[in-house]
Amino acid sequence: MSASIPNRDSSSARPFVQRGGAVLLDRDGVISQQTAFVNEPDDLNLIDGAAAAIARLNAAGWPVAIITNQGGIAMGYLSEEMLHKIHARLENLLAEEGAHVDAIFYCAHHEDAKLPQYKTQCECRKPNTGMLEQARDRLGIDLGKSVVVGDRTTDILAGIRGGCSTILVETGSAGKDREIVAEPDAEVQDITAAVDLILSTADLKP
Ligand SMILES: [Mg+2]
Ligand SMILES: [Zn+2]
Repeated sequence: MSASIPNRDSSSARPFVQRGGAVLLDRDGVISQQTAFVNEPDDLNLIDGAAAAIARLNAAGWPVAIITNQGGIAMGYLSEEMLHKIHARLENLLAEEGAHVDAIFYCAHHEDAKLPQYKTQCECRKPNTGMLEQARDRLGIDLGKSVVVGDRTTDILAGIRGGCSTILVETGSAGKDREIVAEPDAEVQDITAAVDLILSTADLKP
C-alpha cells in the first residue's frame, strides 16, 4: 500500500473513525468510475474493489453513507427521478458483492443552474457541509469521529470544515482539480487502500 500520511505522525495520529462515527464516501471517482457524465443507470460502473471495500466496512460495523454533488440535475442533464434509478443500480451492484450503504445524500443545486428551482448558493454543495450535517442527523453519528473519503479538493475541504478526518484517493480526479487548497490527512491509491487505512487504525473503544 502506498499511503502517505502528511499530517500525521505516530505520536499525534488519531484514528480515522472512532465508535460513534461513520465513513462518508464521495460517489464519482471514489466508488464509481468517473466517466464524462453519469446521466442514466448504465453509465454507472464501479471502481475495481469498491464493493468489496464497502463490504469490509459493513462487516466491521461502521455506518457508511454516500455524499455526492449532482449539479447535473441543476443543469438539466438528468432528473432527480433518474438519479434515484442510477442509485438503485449502484445499490444493486454493491449488493451483488454483499455490500450496502446506510444512506445516500445528494446536492442537486448549482449557483449557475439552468433550471431555476435548483439555482441557489446552497449549504449542501461540497465544499459546504450541509450533506455532512444531514448524515449526522439521519444516522445519529458524530462528525468529529467520522472520515470523509473523496477524490476532489472540495470533498476534502467539506470534511475539514465538518470536523472529520479526510482521505484523498488517487482515482477519479485524484485531487488534481485544485479547485481549492485543502490538505487531506492521508492520500492513498483507491477506496480499497482507504478502507485498509480506516480499519487498521479504527478505534472501537467506547
Ligand atoms: Mg468525486
Ligand atoms: Zn445543495
